[in-house]
Amino acid sequence: MKDILPEQTVRWQWLEQQFRSIVERYGYWEVRTPLLEATELFEREIGETTDVVEKEMYSFERHDDRLTVRPEGTAGTARAFVQGKVMNLQPITRWYYIGPMFRAERPAKGRYRQFHQAGCEIYGDEGPLCDAELIAMCAKILKALGVGDVAIHVNSLGSGGIRERYRDALHAFLLPHREALSEDSQRRLHTNPLRVLDSKSKQDQEVVAEAPSVLELLEPEDTEHFEGLKRHLDALGVDYVVDDRLVRGLDYYTRTLFELKTTTDELGAQSTLIGGGRYDNMVQNLGHKKGVPAIGFAMGLERILALAGETGELPGPSCYFVPMTEPAQVRALVLAERLRDAGIYCEVDGRGTSVKSMMRRADSMNSRVCLLLGEDELAADKITVKDLAAGEQEEVAQDQLLLAVRARLRTSAPNVDAKPAPKAEKGAGTDD
Ligand code: AMP
Repeated sequence: MKDILPEQTVRWQWLEQQFRSIVERYGYWEVRTPLLEATELFEREIGETTDVVEKEMYSFERHDDRLTVRPEGTAGTARAFVQGKVMNLQPITRWYYIGPMFRAERPAKGRYRQFHQAGCEIYGDEGPLCDAELIAMCAKILKALGVGDVAIHVNSLGSGGIRERYRDALHAFLLPHREALSEDSQRRLHTNPLRVLDSKSKQDQEVVAEAPSVLELLEPEDTEHFEGLKRHLDALGVDYVVDDRLVRGLDYYTRTLFELKTTTDELGAQSTLIGGGRYDNMVQNLGHKKGVPAIGFAMGLERILALAGETGELPGPSCYFVPMTEPAQVRALVLAERLRDAGIYCEVDGRGTSVKSMMRRADSMNSRVCLLLGEDELAADKITVKDLAAGEQEEVAQDQLLLAVRARLRTSAPNVDAKPAPKAEKGAGTDD
């Protein structure tokens, strides 16, 4: 679990802003659900034999409730959808969320115990048109974030009992090869053979290379759905590969399944940036009398940030007050409030230190204008406006300060672009 310090927060805000602005153009609205849900929700929806439920959830009991800190966003969002009776309001609902998730996984590069996901869910549309649109939107988000070298994998797990039939077929295929499998996969062979398919172990991969394909088991209407998905992706000009080994780690998926992976090896084994799929049975499982088809995805923000392009930087204050005496500090406080009320970002240096060190801080914060207040200025109701970008200064009446600052901010170059975000100032904290 990591702290995100302000210098990094700027990148996070940028990423979240890019995500919001794209998905909102597709009609998604933000939903915020609690971090805690009933443990049973995840056991039922994600599946008891999945890694997440078996060994990664942070769960506890309190006042006879079994609770879990959410390991993912889909189950809680679907619960909110059913509990809020949202299906009675609109035939189609498009929601997004951004927030922390928690899994007690073995930490690795790109794998954390508290990590952040941004995700989208669509309820009420069977697809495959909306499936293709959702995948294309994922590609667009990664492009906007400057994440290149991405491969899109798609598969279908079919509907009805196909998943179970495939599980049996895989079990029957793997059983004679039992000895050749890794220890983990030998165990999974009985509990959840689908998981053997996406094992990272080389010995397992050699065995599953010959395994039957789920696509061969699909019913005609599932095949038609999958063909529709591919047709729409082609129409949108989205490059993808059909990957019949793609199963993903959560049990709730039906039909469309997809992942966007980085093709660079920067994240080692954690190459999946976005994972998603259809979960047409969840809403009914959660107690709604009628099924509501649904599809969604989640993207891992840490992984994407590790690959994302350069982002905005922390802007410094436009105006930096340098008061030289105690009465000047009081005056600066009042004047700064007036500027802030007019929408100008300013800071008052109240340290009572030397002009030189206050000016140095103004410079390291990328301020555009320094406002100097000494004894003389105070006595004459004036203030010195020093334009750091233009290297000029003028003395103005204090009641003309807003006008003077506005004029300076209009003409001086926005130096937030010219310099890096403020780093620790040399000698910070020491008085000279
Ligand atoms: P999932 O909810 O397992 O389908 O994962 C969706 C995405 O969340 C993955 O593709 C990752 O980008 C991200 N993710 C999942 N688990 C972790 C983790 N432990 N640490 C960092 N990112 C994660």
